[in-house]
Amino acid sequence: MTEEKKRIKKPRGKARYVEGKCIGCGERCVSACPVDGIAMNEAGEPVIEADKCIGCLKCVKACAANALEMFYSPEELEQLRNWEEQHGAGEDELDEEERKLREELAAYKGVWVFVEQYDGEAARVSWELLGTGRQLADRLQVELSAVVIGHKVGHLCEEAFAFGADKAFLLEAPVYTHYRTQAYTEAIVHLIGKHRPEIVLMGATGQGRDLAGAVATVVGTGLTADCTGLDIDERGNLGQTRPAFGGNIMATIMCDRFRPQMATVRPHVMTMPERQEARGGEVVREGFAPVEENIPVKVLEVIGERDGKDQVDIAGAEIVVSGGRGVMNEANFAILREFADELGAVVGASRSAVDAGWMPHGRQVGQTGKTVRPKIYIACGISGAIQHMVGMQDSDVIIAINRDPEAPIFQVATYGIVGDLFQVVPALTRRIRELKKQRRGKDQAA
Ligand SMILES: Cc1cc2nc3c(=O)[nH]c(=O)nc-3n(C[C@H](O)[C@H](O)[C@H](O)COP(=O)(O)OP(=O)(O)OC[C@H]3O[C@@H](n4cnc5c(N)ncnc54)[C@H](O)[C@@H]3O)c2cc1C
Ligand code: SF4
Ligand code: SF4
Repeated sequence: MTEEKKRIKKPRGKARYVEGKCIGCGERCVSACPVDGIAMNEAGEPVIEADKCIGCLKCVKACAANALEMFYSPEELEQLRNWEEQHGAGEDELDEEERKLREELAAYKGVWVFVEQYDGEAARVSWELLGTGRQLADRLQVELSAVVIGHKVGHLCEEAFAFGADKAFLLEAPVYTHYRTQAYTEAIVHLIGKHRPEIVLMGATGQGRDLAGAVATVVGTGLTADCTGLDIDERGNLGQTRPAFGGNIMATIMCDRFRPQMATVRPHVMTMPERQEARGGEVVREGFAPVEENIPVKVLEVIGERDGKDQVDIAGAEIVVSGGRGVMNEANFAILREFADELGAVVGASRSAVDAGWMPHGRQVGQTGKTVRPKIYIACGISGAIQHMVGMQDSDVIIAINRDPEAPIFQVATYGIVGDLFQVVPALTRRIRELKKQRRGKDQAA
């Protein structure tokens, strides 16, 4: 008897429905079945045609509610016991398609972070992502690489090493002087094709969002935008967590059948890693550069953001005083500005205040505004809707001032003041002024 013949085949069994567990997710099981073996009955529950079922397990895997399971005849159960003795319980006999897919995915290795830069200066979010990338790479026991693209940007490789990268892919050429979607997309697609990373992270900035979408489309993989958390699951896949359904739930999205797994993360969501000057790494210079004549978009002039009306960077501020609908009108924001001036803070706002036209959009904190992570966040007359909280809940200290003791903002607040902001805020401003005056008096006396 040959080795092949001695091998026991794993019995496949048949799928069956676990009564009462279907949540009517939209017939994922029906779509997953390759033999049209499942139909939905009038009660909206799956009915499996046992004659058709080939025991491929696809419906069981597709059902997020665990509403489907495999069952075996007594003979099959006996066969299964023997099979498990030979192969170990919990092991799956992979079909050819699955085996091929796993082989393809295994060819992708390493975590990459795209280093966004303007005039040779890196965006802070890229270093934040290197901190997260380092943790992911350590969990996977793979290398962490920075991708540096630009003209005369070699110094950024050293910085990337200081923030945790093991390696830096460097593409330098005049064609990369200014960010242009086509040139940068071609560059990254080229690198991905050649080096096959399993994870690619970019900042959820104007540039990162544009580039990530274009790259994911060309390489034919998934992209999760605006992630607030990244982790590795037990199978080595990237869990990409982000708010979903208008911010009412946090969804963890997996891209377990395509590589690379791509995600963007907003500035200030991840913690900035410590800079380690002594760290070094390997620079891999890549000569790839698109031909300038083939790129229809030309950059004629760069108009800096600082020429805009609202120059304040609330995302980078150490103290933020934010106002919401409770501030009542635009003029009342002067009370918050006075308070912020005494604290050396900047003024932010909830979407309600921005929608009402009391503050510019650049000051909005939250899901559709900016994510802030200041040392102190002071929320004045803000109820604490989930869409606001996702933008500020990671602040070191949160102080909430609200006249409603039941306001959800108090659930995330380090200190809560239940009271009228029109009394509390001026009182705090006066007290800070007094304290400063006292300190000045002491300094002069000393
Ligand atoms: C898809 C989507 C995206 C969104 N994105 C954002 C976002 O990015 N950022 C954001 O902020 N929101 C966002 N929202 C809106 C969000 O759901 C809330 O509607 C909004 O945050 C509420 O703003 P607010 O807290 O200022 O107003 P309200 O919810 O009306 O709260 C006002 C608060 O002020 C208090 N108050 C009133 N008067 C006083 C007073 N005199 N003294 C003290 N307290 C007082 C009240 O008790 C109340 O708690 C989004 C919504 C959706 C659907
Ligand atoms: S196990 Fe496979 S063949 Fe059987 S019902 Fe489920 S999807 Fe269809
Ligand atoms: S996949 Fe699961 S929850 Fe969805 S319809 Fe089928 S049995 Fe119901």
